[in-house]
Amino acid sequence: MRDSVKLSSGRSYLAIPGPSVMPDAVLQAMHRASPNIYAGELVDMTATLPGDLRRVARTAHHVAIYIANGHGAWEAALSNTLKPGDKVLVPASGRFAFGWSEMAEALGIEIEILDFGMQSPFDPDRIADVLRADTAGQIKAVLGVHVDTSTSIRNDISALRAAIDAAGHPALLMADCIASLGCDRFEMDAWGVDVMVTGCQKGLMVPAGMSFVFFNDKAAEVRATLPRVSRYWDWVPRAHPEWFYQFFGGTAPTHHLYGLRAALDLIHAEGIEQVWARHEILARAIWAACARWSEGGALAMNVTDPGLRSHAVTALRLPSPRATELRNWLEQNLGLTLGIGLGMAPPDSPEWHGFFRLGHMGHVNGHMIMGLLGGIDTGLKALDLPHGTGALDAASRILAGGDAA
Ligand SMILES: *Cc1c(COP(=O)(O)O)cnc(C)c1O
Repeated sequence: MRDSVKLSSGRSYLAIPGPSVMPDAVLQAMHRASPNIYAGELVDMTATLPGDLRRVARTAHHVAIYIANGHGAWEAALSNTLKPGDKVLVPASGRFAFGWSEMAEALGIEIEILDFGMQSPFDPDRIADVLRADTAGQIKAVLGVHVDTSTSIRNDISALRAAIDAAGHPALLMADCIASLGCDRFEMDAWGVDVMVTGCQKGLMVPAGMSFVFFNDKAAEVRATLPRVSRYWDWVPRAHPEWFYQFFGGTAPTHHLYGLRAALDLIHAEGIEQVWARHEILARAIWAACARWSEGGALAMNVTDPGLRSHAVTALRLPSPRATELRNWLEQNLGLTLGIGLGMAPPDSPEWHGFFRLGHMGHVNGHMIMGLLGGIDTGLKALDLPHGTGALDAASRILAGGDAA
């Protein structure tokens, strides 16, 4: 009887690290006829977005909106600050640092990668050493991924600024906050970040398709020295919402803008500090459960030091191919979808099936996280995977306000 009955009907839960769960308020805001893009409500509403985006990023500076995913924001940030032949330094602690540098390379930019592996954060001292050795000033920017979504390592971006300053180096500090904005504390101005890129489909809870480049006056000055910038990626007209048509380089992403307005209202009604605190507590509940499961010897968290873990995504291992089996079982039987492992092994290798990730970014709360953990606990039992007991107990203690026992 039990074997023939699937328990997956009902509301499914996509617990992958982006796109994230969309709030009903966002979906409802988007469910409307096309608005006039030349005048009226949409134009007026759009003028309210940059200020509220800046509040999420903790910056008083500029923001450009792109009709693109995060890869588009990567290209936009590079296109406004660098020219072919310039060099960038890329400390890496996961796949996304390599992705951003490959994009730079394709634009004719020379890249120097400092690879810290898949389980360690940046070492600011090594970065400062490389910058000190660059006496000719060839390095024009340091590209730092705040949370690398492949490994779930959270890097210290303010320490990266301190390393650049300690070396007395003029390079721009550019941060990828695609997985962290609206989840993990990020302070663009206080941390001395010159350029920051993010997307709308993770902590910002809007369907994929819009991305943002924040930049300060130092970066704007660098932009002004470039001989040419791709017309579409140029951030100058896009940083002026009063030039509505130029702001989007064409037709506005009408429905995304309504969705974003609703999402920003949710974030600011809750308060950004509270949003960060919620993500942290939910993440600690997940780690507490994972620590119990790992006592069985099969499951392991990728990042051992809790202080280096993202509050929005958790990368895990199981002996291959059990990670893929677990994901498949949960999706087919419980309606719960977990993220694939990324960057930890080549996609066509047998090891690839030994990694998976949990997304816990954006519109997630206590009961959803307990459902996520309860689902995984069920899957471990159904597949006879060795695991320690008491995971849900440990998680619920965290949510109840205590410590993991
Ligand atoms: C998701 C993500 C990207 C890529 O964003 P896309 O919207 O998929 O292009 C880049 N960097 C990080 C850290 C991400 O999490």
